[in-house]
Amino acid sequence: MANSPESHSGMSLDGRTATSPATTDATASSSFRPHEAVERADVEAVNKKEARSLYKKREPIYPKRAKGTFRTIKWVIMAITLGIYYLAPWIRWDRGEGLPDQAILIDFPARRFYFFFIEIWPQEVYYITGLLILAAIGLFLVTSTAGRVWCGYTCPQTVWVDLFLAVERFFEGDRNERMRLDKAPWSFSKLRKKTLKHITWLLIGVATGGAWVFYFADAPTLFNQLIHFEADMTAYFWIGLFTTTTYLLGGFAREQVCTYMCPWPRIQSVMLDEDSLAVMYRYDRGEPRGPHKKGDSWEGRGDCIQCRQCVVVCPMGIDIRDGMQLECIQCSLCIDACNAVMDKVGRPRGLIAYDSLANFKARAKGEKERFRIIRPRTILYTALILVVGGVMLYSLLTRSELDVNVLRDRNPVYVQLSNGDIRNGYTLKILNKAREPRRFAVAVHGLENHQMWIEGIQSMTEDGLPVVDVGLDRLRSVKLYVAAPRTALQSDSTDITIEVRDLDGNVRDIHETTFKGPDPRR
Ligand code: SF4
Ligand code: SF4
Repeated sequence: MANSPESHSGMSLDGRTATSPATTDATASSSFRPHEAVERADVEAVNKKEARSLYKKREPIYPKRAKGTFRTIKWVIMAITLGIYYLAPWIRWDRGEGLPDQAILIDFPARRFYFFFIEIWPQEVYYITGLLILAAIGLFLVTSTAGRVWCGYTCPQTVWVDLFLAVERFFEGDRNERMRLDKAPWSFSKLRKKTLKHITWLLIGVATGGAWVFYFADAPTLFNQLIHFEADMTAYFWIGLFTTTTYLLGGFAREQVCTYMCPWPRIQSVMLDEDSLAVMYRYDRGEPRGPHKKGDSWEGRGDCIQCRQCVVVCPMGIDIRDGMQLECIQCSLCIDACNAVMDKVGRPRGLIAYDSLANFKARAKGEKERFRIIRPRTILYTALILVVGGVMLYSLLTRSELDVNVLRDRNPVYVQLSNGDIRNGYTLKILNKAREPRRFAVAVHGLENHQMWIEGIQSMTEDGLPVVDVGLDRLRSVKLYVAAPRTALQSDSTDITIEVRDLDGNVRDIHETTFKGPDPRR
């Protein structure tokens, strides 16, 4: 384990330990002439495992702003994900008269979930289950291919902390300024900066909670009610809850959520293999590390100049050079920081990069690097996604506009009529998902000489079947009675089917059930 990305930690290089006091930046000793353009930091990775204790006060982390390709990608993803979250409830979608025109709506009173052209009824909750399964397998696929991409780029905690950090930098400046400000005694300027920062954080929290409740009601209507204090108390409760949690988790708990609260880092390791990509320090290129003077040879030493810029940009407060760590959310900001340093000292980029354990082994043996994205594990996850997604898509495209539920009365199981016939009662729930009212004929099969009628229904077809009218997008529950002479029964339980058929002949649904009575053989 001495020479692996998992274990090359705790190095003592150039006669100094890799860590030193936590919250101060200092230029290095002047006994050597560093590359002038490279900023150096004498900083401890305060959140690494050995430095943490459950009984210790949280050490603040002051991530420095990174610049580079991955930082830009993260800004773009942040804009897209926050844009979707805040704006999606305002997208309109015309579904016709009497139906909500909000594209994404979880309508609890009507017990319906709308997603653009898809409408999910409570009876179809398996679609939501399917979506969750798809999301989980998708996450497995992404993790096994490129590591914790979810954590580093799209997890809500990462995105909101990034946003809160941007606000913090805007009011209080970058790392060194923020550290100085926190150490400085209270003054009007400090009070003003801190107050503005916290007000902005709270406003983001309110917007986050506000956006959340808009997913559960017509957004423009609810917005109007909220600002006039006419909305239901539940809406204010959820906004309050989300404001508080966003403010606390984004502003204060930050890396502690990933380190202590989130189970994902603990279970993701089973999805990784030695070909999985992850942000790694290429110790085989970087070691032995140490300060480097401009003009000095690079012979016999590694490319890491011990500037610790990778540490100061890390929002998790760790040192990527300590190897793979549970605390690393793979945000790639240390790649940007190190690439900028490599540019300045004239060494190739990629001392910290997306790499795999297999490549470390290959390089150690003098073999060529390989990036194997197609592997049994990724093939399996992709196949599962295709199967589950295919089944869901097929059932969604072919789903019927009619759904019938039949429930036979259990108390009493049957009734003997004055003429000696046996009568059973059934509750029939007819769900018309069509965008127009429909008329359904109800028929019973499998029982000779039976009679049937539906409570409150007078309308009949020409061949004497009761007709139930169901409004557009409505569920109607009716009481069906079936009576038959004892001689028609096969036993104490006769199998029958109940057919519900649209009078236009477009859709029909057949349900199997039983007709109970005394055993005719006794
Ligand atoms: S890995 Fe790169 S950024 Fe980190 S200390 Fe070494 S040279 Fe500096
Ligand atoms: S070590 Fe690098 S990739 Fe990991 S959290 Fe820190 S900055 Fe992000």
